[in-house]
Amino acid sequence: MLSFSELLDKTRKAKGKPTVATPPPSKKVAPAPPKDPLKNGANAQQASAEIPKAEKVQLEDERTLVLLFRGKVLTAPNGVLKIPDEARNLCALFESGLWLVSASHRRSPLVTSVAQAAKRQGFKVDEPRYVTPNIIIQAYVYADRNNDSAHYDMNAARRRIVATLDKAVQMGANDVHIESVNGRAVVQFRIDGSLRQQDVWTQTEGDQFLAAVYSHSRGQSGSTANFQEPQAAMLTSDARGKDEITLPKGVISVRCQWVPLSNGGAYLDMRLSYDSAHLWGENFIMADVDSLGFSQEQLRVVQSLRAAPGGLRIFSGPVNQGKTTTLRVVLNRRMAETEMRLNCLVIEDPPEGGVVGARQIGCSASVKDDQREKTFVEIMRCALRLDPDIVMLGEVRDLQTAQFAFRLALTGRQVYTTGHVYSALATPKRLRDIGVEPYIVYDHNLVRGMACQRLLRSLCPHCRISWNDAIRDFGPGTRELVRRVRAGLAIMEASRKKANVGRPIKECVVEPDMSHVYFANPEGCSECYRGRAGRTVAAEIIETDAKLMSLLQDNREDEAAAYWLSPAGLNGITMLQRGLEKVRAGEVSPDDAEFELGIFARDRELQDVEERLGPLP
Ligand SMILES: [Zn+2]
Repeated sequence: MLSFSELLDKTRKAKGKPTVATPPPSKKVAPAPPKDPLKNGANAQQASAEIPKAEKVQLEDERTLVLLFRGKVLTAPNGVLKIPDEARNLCALFESGLWLVSASHRRSPLVTSVAQAAKRQGFKVDEPRYVTPNIIIQAYVYADRNNDSAHYDMNAARRRIVATLDKAVQMGANDVHIESVNGRAVVQFRIDGSLRQQDVWTQTEGDQFLAAVYSHSRGQSGSTANFQEPQAAMLTSDARGKDEITLPKGVISVRCQWVPLSNGGAYLDMRLSYDSAHLWGENFIMADVDSLGFSQEQLRVVQSLRAAPGGLRIFSGPVNQGKTTTLRVVLNRRMAETEMRLNCLVIEDPPEGGVVGARQIGCSASVKDDQREKTFVEIMRCALRLDPDIVMLGEVRDLQTAQFAFRLALTGRQVYTTGHVYSALATPKRLRDIGVEPYIVYDHNLVRGMACQRLLRSLCPHCRISWNDAIRDFGPGTRELVRRVRAGLAIMEASRKKANVGRPIKECVVEPDMSHVYFANPEGCSECYRGRAGRTVAAEIIETDAKLMSLLQDNREDEAAAYWLSPAGLNGITMLQRGLEKVRAGEVSPDDAEFELGIFARDRELQDVEERLGPLP
């Protein structure tokens, strides 16, 4: 079956420039047109050999009417009314209100929805004229001829997509947001976690952009660009068709999500997935997690986890907090350390690439959830038979994926995956919640590693402001924050000293070194954006052991945490403490760290520290 535009092309080539509708050649009434639109197209071609000025149109009830095309076709591909492509086989709406509907599709929901959309947007819609499909094709041939700018517009929109993506890559954006409403379209980039306004277009330009992205993408959730409903699709780097967009270098794919806005506009988010070489340079395979922001102690834990046989390593955190990036660095190191002798399978949906020497197993390009689900399950089954040493599984999201992950882990494979818990210690509970048996969850040989991370905006070293100046410039709120930094640092330093184990922490605190604590300068400088440049990871990572897991199994979470963090236990460090270390080192502004990680010290702790050390000088 031909698409609408192919049909139009054929029709256009076959004849001149008709301006009026032409009826089917048959003199007999044709109430039910044939189902095959190609056949109708052919009829239309024959019929339009001679082009009369106006035409009698045979109606279903054997009456005839004279139909003259005039004015704009609102439902044309470049018309003001965005309708599904396939709806153009069934109906056409003119600005005069002339409403042509294929007689055999008078009850089609698609036709009804086009009429409703038109009315909602304030367009005149007359009583429908039920006609044969060739008349509708004629209407669009007429519209196409009357609007020579259509093809130019499409190319302009296409150029705009390429230019916008190029700019986004150049600026290191992760997302491009376009909100098209109230006569204008606002373009924002998300860079280092914050939105920045990039451009303002007219709403027409915005609507064209949204529609053009849709028509150039693949795996669309609906067959048409109907932004009255949420839609999803992908742009991928392996552009093949002439209509596909070639993505900028370094970008693997762009995931697109459209949603309608309640005030009549539409909104598009485009998320860019970069390849590893783009993010870390050509030598990224030599990088390790310290370059992302892990401490030297954490680096040793990661190394130990890389070397340990079998079992799961679960990296958690909210979305967009860099956990897949961390996983990629870990896996690249593992592949380099073993000189690529291992069979590493990467199963992700959508695939993101970036592990050198790994086999990236393609998942469904479809954005339909049930189809993807099916493909994913199929791939998991295959993976068990592919003799892997290491499997990176995009996410453990349900019992099915968890069972698959543990089956691999039980058979001695290293399994790396991501989860959505908010702290490393909460990982086993999450696995229990999705239905995994406790004898599996609390086996430290099966769940070997649990990590969690957040991304913090890095301070610009060129324009940062010392905390003393910040208190003077920004006022009492900043002073309160500095008090919490001091108390948090004092308590952390006291509790992480081996000599203090077993003593009340309150009695061990000493004045922390705050000489490198800086705040971001909201004015920024030429090297940064509002005092921040780039991002750094604040992570917590645990290599499990029998004691920790049995404490967690017995619901003794506080004791488990104390054991993990004690210098006499696993000597771990929390994300919050890593954030404090980064504040102490002048890498992160205290307000940014508290925003992502929570407050540094509670009232009780503030009191304890200030009783001991006196008020903040
Ligand atoms: Zn700066």
